[in-house]
Parts: sequence; structure tokens; C-alpha cells
Amino acid sequence: MTDWTVSADALLAHAGSGWRAGEPVVQPPVLATILASAGEPGEADYGRGANATWAGLEAALGAVEAAHAVVFSSGQAASMALMLALARGRDRIVLPRDGYYNARALAEQLRPHGAVPVFVDQDDTAAIEEELAAGRAVLWTESPTNPLLRVADLTTLGRLAAAAGAPMVVDNTVVTGLLQQPLELGATASLCSLTKSASGHSDVLAGAVMTRDPALADELRNWRALGGGVLGPMEAWLALRGLRTLPLRIERQSASALAIATHLAEQPAVRRVYYPGVCAETLDLARAQMPRGFGPLLSFEVNGAAADADAVVAAARLIVPATSFGGVESSWERRGRWPRETAPPALIRLSIGIEPAADLIADIDQALASGLAG
Ligand code: PLP
Repeated sequence: MTDWTVSADALLAHAGSGWRAGEPVVQPPVLATILASAGEPGEADYGRGANATWAGLEAALGAVEAAHAVVFSSGQAASMALMLALARGRDRIVLPRDGYYNARALAEQLRPHGAVPVFVDQDDTAAIEEELAAGRAVLWTESPTNPLLRVADLTTLGRLAAAAGAPMVVDNTVVTGLLQQPLELGATASLCSLTKSASGHSDVLAGAVMTRDPALADELRNWRALGGGVLGPMEAWLALRGLRTLPLRIERQSASALAIATHLAEQPAVRRVYYPGVCAETLDLARAQMPRGFGPLLSFEVNGAAADADAVVAAARLIVPATSFGGVESSWERRGRWPRETAPPALIRLSIGIEPAADLIADIDQALASGLAG
């Protein structure tokens, strides 16, 4: 027999499917909360400890990043377990100043085991080195960031973290493990909200942590069982069903997002576009870290005030006015409408779906024209 390896894309197409004669080819949801006991108590006895539907989803996610995967009831539940697992014995969590605002809010309110959040610019390696040296730390990074799509140099940050003895987390939600592999770039843990592109149909809340450290994976499972942030079997089933088409979806979404970002950059009604594929300063880095594409999310500022951006969003006929991202349907929102968000007031965050790019460009052009006409 010859050596035979299969790509992550092929594995995902088959995720959860079986080959045993007479058994379902696709994984059904397992709704039982209790399993018949084998005598000795075990984690599989009760639904807060294990569920066969999670197991299929975790196997698929683990295959993409060659890691152990632990799934949770949301991205935030995954972040909370990760903060609790990593902060023990540490004084601080160093986080990006302009990343996902609820990661900052969670670290501030949770202060796991007394670890205090410290906010930095991910480009400022001198400041990060200093913060990591000031106490026992966890380095929490995000790339590309939500909503400014800034690309951090993960290899450099990984080196700084390793030198300081700090575990590094990468929030990989925007592009998923299919486009970017944080564990290959020095991360201890790769975090993904499966609510976004990974499941891809705007119908399930879920999150996951991938790690190659078996002790950390065990600790995460322990926090999941104790804290109760478990994924329901129906949600696990939906997430796995969505994940099987991730390669197709994200490839098309990335190609359309690049075309649309390039188009927006040429519009006089647009002040600035934020997308890794059109940011000259980080383009080489972005290509090295995300060789298959830059993902479905982009942002842009309209030439005007917050009210003008609101008018543009409201004028769309195809793009849905809604938060979140990564779904098959395109959606957008003025990001600054959220109270804790620090994005510029006239910034619109646009999630590209699977519609043909030409339809989206036509809708964006008419929305810009009618929204800014008043
Ligand atoms: N990380 C990022 C970058 C996000 O954008 C989000 C949600 O928007 C999360 C984590 C949290 O995920 P969830 O909404 O599934 O809790």
C-alpha cells in the first residue's frame, strides 16, 4: 500500500460520515443526556461531560488544525474557558486594544484567578515585550482583527510569548483554521467562534478551541463540564453540517471580498477600506499567514458622518442589515452603533456571502448613491 494523505478540504467533506455497513453515512444528532453506565462513573455518562455529536464536530475541527478540539456553546464560552484555564498562576492577560470588544469586556469582568487585562497595539512589539516581561502573562491575540481587519505578525508575537514563557492565544474566528493555522505560527491555542464562517448559515451559536497540548485540552473539557458551557447536540449537528462546505464557501467569499474591497477603494464616496488584501503595509505578511485567501469580512468608512453610514446600510436591497458575519447571505452594519465598539463612527462592516460578486457590487453602488444623496 502506498502512503496516502488527504487534504483538510477532503476530510471536511466527509466529516462525521461513516463507512460501516448498515450505519448512517452522515452523523445524526444524539439527543440523549444520559448513557447507560458501564459500572464505573465516567465523563460519557452524562451530557455535560460528553456527547457523540460533539465528538464528530471535534474530530473534524481537530483534523483541520492537527490538534485536539474542544467545542463550547459559543465563542464567548470558549474564550471564558480558555481564560480560566490559562490564567491560573499568572498576573495579566495582554490583549489587543482594537480586537473583538467582548474579549476585552470578558477579561475585564472575569479577571480569571486575579489576572488583570492589559491592552496593547499588536504592531507595537516593544510595548508587548515590555508588558510580557512585567509579570507572568497570557498573550491574547487576534488576526485579522474584528472589525478593522488588521493583520498581526503572529510568528513574531509567538516568539515574544515563548521567550516570556507566556502561552499565546490567537482568535482565528475571522478566517478559520482553513485559511490560517495559528498553531503552526507559535500559538498554544487557536480560538474560533463557530457561529461565523465555520458553520456559515447564521443559524447556530458555537465556539471551539484547538490546541496540541493534551493537558490544556483536558483542562478545557473540565471547565466546560464544570461551568456548563456545553454545546447542544442539535447545534453540534448544525455546526458539523455547515463545516462540511466551509472550503467551498470561504474560497468564494474570499474571492468576492477581495474584488469588492478593490472596487470600494476606487469609490469617491469611500474614505478608507480595511481588508488584508488591499492593505499595502501588511500584504506580504497577510499572504504568508493566509496563503489561501483573506476571508469574508471587510470594513470601509464612508465619506460622511455616522448618519450617512446608517443611511447607506438602510438603502441596501440585497445585503441584509444585521450584525455578525460569515453567513452565506451578505450582511452589513455600522459597527459604531454598539456601545462598547471603538471603530470609527462612519465605519461599515460588510460580511460577504456566497452571492455572485457582481450582484453585491451593484447593491453597494446603489446603496452608496442613494444613502449619500440626502
Ligand atoms: N471572536 C470574534 C473575533 C468574534 O467576532 C466573536 C463574535 O462576534 C467572538 C469571538 C464570540 O463569538 P460568539 O458570538 O460565538 O460568542
